[in-house]
Amino acid sequence: MSSSKHGVCKVSRPVTQPLAILHDSTTVEGVAYAIAFAQHERILRALKSWLGFTCAGVAAIIIPILHFIFVPLLLIVGAVLGVKRLRMVRMYTHASGICPRCQQAFELGLDAAQHFPKWTYCPHCRASLKLIQR
Ligand SMILES: [Zn+2]
Repeated sequence: MSSSKHGVCKVSRPVTQPLAILHDSTTVEGVAYAIAFAQHERILRALKSWLGFTCAGVAAIIIPILHFIFVPLLLIVGAVLGVKRLRMVRMYTHASGICPRCQQAFELGLDAAQHFPKWTYCPHCRASLKLIQR
């Protein structure tokens, strides 16, 4: 994972993560792309998420009967998503590489909070692939 000169990230920036792509006993190189967030951006993202759900929870007070469910649910969801966003150091976007079986280049979408290893399939030949961080 690339990092700034002093090891402290000031703004969000695109970063790459080298990957190993495995199929049977063949291994090739690949790359995962992500956006690394600075600490103040993580706090802002968490606050936006928490405030959005809290406002929705407050607005749900006017809905008769359902407010007994919606208000606590939205407050809890806002807090949980806020903590998740606060902890999210990087957001993965996609991975690219060459399939070890069919030798064709491919690009795969990744979950924002992707954890490796990831098992997936080649979009061309449907070979099972295992993506591991280098
Ligand atoms: Zn393939």
